Amino acid sequence: MPRPIIATINQNALKHNLSIARNLAPSSHIWAVVKANAYGHGIKNVWKSLIKADGFALLNLDKAIFLRDHGWDKPILLLEGFFNSDDIKIIHHYSLTTAIHSHWQIQALKKAKLLSPVNVYLKINCGMNRLGFQPNEIKKIWHQLRSCKNIGEVTLMSHFPEAENPQGVTEPMKRITQAAIGLKCPHSLANSAATLWHPKTHFDWIRPGIMLYGASPSGDWKHVSRSGLKPVMTLTSKVIAIQEIPQGASVGYNRNYCAPYKQRIGIVACGYADGYPRHAPSGTPIKVNNEMTQTIGSVAMDMLAVDLTNHPNTGLGSTVELWGENIKIDDLAVIARTVGYEIMCSLSQRVPVKLY
Ligand SMILES: *Cc1c(COP(=O)(O)O)cnc(C)c1O
Repeated sequence: MPRPIIATINQNALKHNLSIARNLAPSSHIWAVVKANAYGHGIKNVWKSLIKADGFALLNLDKAIFLRDHGWDKPILLLEGFFNSDDIKIIHHYSLTTAIHSHWQIQALKKAKLLSPVNVYLKINCGMNRLGFQPNEIKKIWHQLRSCKNIGEVTLMSHFPEAENPQGVTEPMKRITQAAIGLKCPHSLANSAATLWHPKTHFDWIRPGIMLYGASPSGDWKHVSRSGLKPVMTLTSKVIAIQEIPQGASVGYNRNYCAPYKQRIGIVACGYADGYPRHAPSGTPIKVNNEMTQTIGSVAMDMLAVDLTNHPNTGLGSTVELWGENIKIDDLAVIARTVGYEIMCSLSQRVPVKLY
């Protein structure tokens, strides 16, 4: 018997969430963002459910090559561009589209010896201040790119720092619009939050990530639940031991939980080394045999404890949902002072994944 923890991936939920993005932006193409190994879901597990996307966007060349080797012949976008001029040969060989955010990348593309041009995404810094050129540089750079024979289509790309807020795209959109005056080129601006809440940002290609996996870019599940997204990953395990403890007994490391009364507790085969957030405090909601209860004490590397005192129908072997269909990853994230993105991406290699 393997350890009973398992992550199940609901392929219909992935397809459904993609169709929601499609309906929100019916005139746009969709880059399905599958960076960070598809937000922890595993690119090999999800990409077939996302084949109705128009392209895949990611960071690592090996994942792009994986998709090409498995027959994906539509576009692939490297969201951070390339990290070394030697990568250009591979980008060309596999017909990848690359972001460009720095002058050295343009110089490298000019110098490269290519038989046909590479398509690029020219990145504008609209206020995030991570990657990209200042808006006032864009026109000059755009003409520079247009005159380079190694460069094919040029799309203008930017990334919003706070599209989950109602006014969050106003200033960035001003900068982008100003930079793009007179340039006839497609735009790609919208992440999940902008796809959901700012239709004016959709333009030619949207880039939804987190929403495809059925979680909220704002960290607030209620904020997104009306849009009909469905959680994709459910993490379950089992109760592998029961302890009856007297009032005053402690549970787990550091004795930072002390039983207020006689309690029956279950030990669950899941810890932070599986990806469960270590900072989830006592009282974090958890589901055991379809009954809601809560965690007790600190999360350890391989185990955590749950209160089963008032749940006589639970016991050894009961199924535990840690997050997923019922325990929304966004709600767990708020309690553990993190974001759904981090929890998804932290799913550990040692957890088996099953598709259904
Ligand atoms: C991660 C990322 C996205 C997707 O963001 P979500 O908030 O997950 O939708 C889009 N564009 C870029 C450049 C990204 O890095």
